[in-house]
Amino acid sequence: MSKYLVMGLVLGLVSCAPPVTPVITPALPTVVPAASPPPALPAPTQTRGPSAPTAEIPWLEANTMFTLTVLYDNIAYDARLQTDWGFACLVEGPGQTLLFDTGGKGDLLLQNMRTLGLDPQAVDTVVLSHLHNDHTGGLASFLAANPHVTVYLLASFPAALKETVRQAGATLVEVDGPLALNGWAHTTGALGTQIREQALVLATPRGSVVLTGCAHPGIAAMVRQAQTLVSGDTCLALGGFHLRDANAAQLSTVIAELQALGVQQIAPSHCTGDAARQAFAEAFGPAYLSSGAGQVFVIAPEK
Ligand SMILES: [Zn+2]
Ligand SMILES: [Zn+2]
Repeated sequence: MSKYLVMGLVLGLVSCAPPVTPVITPALPTVVPAASPPPALPAPTQTRGPSAPTAEIPWLEANTMFTLTVLYDNIAYDARLQTDWGFACLVEGPGQTLLFDTGGKGDLLLQNMRTLGLDPQAVDTVVLSHLHNDHTGGLASFLAANPHVTVYLLASFPAALKETVRQAGATLVEVDGPLALNGWAHTTGALGTQIREQALVLATPRGSVVLTGCAHPGIAAMVRQAQTLVSGDTCLALGGFHLRDANAAQLSTVIAELQALGVQQIAPSHCTGDAARQAFAEAFGPAYLSSGAGQVFVIAPEK
């Protein structure tokens, strides 16, 4: 198994379970060709998550592909993109394109999208993880570029921010509990006590993907909630994990929790912290994927 994961990493590929799937990285003008595909491995014998998931995806086509592009991050990946404290990630899935968080500065977000050849007008849904400016600050500029979106924010957000959405002409959805955004995207609903935050959960052909802004409620808690919404293994967790102040013992606990939850690959960035990212890299080995502004994750069905 590790052989295929290593192969995936070397090729700049991301997969949620072997065999690997090619990632088309914007930094590279050419598509990394898939080498002769490795043989399919047997399906996991153990299915994690609840016995009665609320989201089934029987319609998911065999050719369904998901592309996640980190548009905004303080950690650099694609040298063409500007970096700045904050996070935003574009999710291109079947029939819909979601923007998860907007970074802190709208002009920087839009510039990074232009650099990658991504059209703001193609976005139909915006999800704001939590009320920190490095995740919501770019919203007004984005809505000026494309108001024809539905914005999912927490009901606990201030009235002024909700009014910004309405004034722009966008559709506002206030999130409290778990909610399906479409056939394959779900929000965990507001988690945490001090800083309320929602994660995005994607049902992909490789399992679930959990996308977090800062993971203030705890990355393990957010993955745990995600697994009650989408059945199967969690093939990838990415985003900010907010572990900058965690000590070694706390990091070990989080890593053990994620491994116990069966998280197959992780790509922490933004507020995760250098020491934490190093600890994750050591613990997950080839299942740790470097992330940062401009990194692209493509998740496609097994061939
Ligand atoms: Zn943040
Ligand atoms: Zn935050």
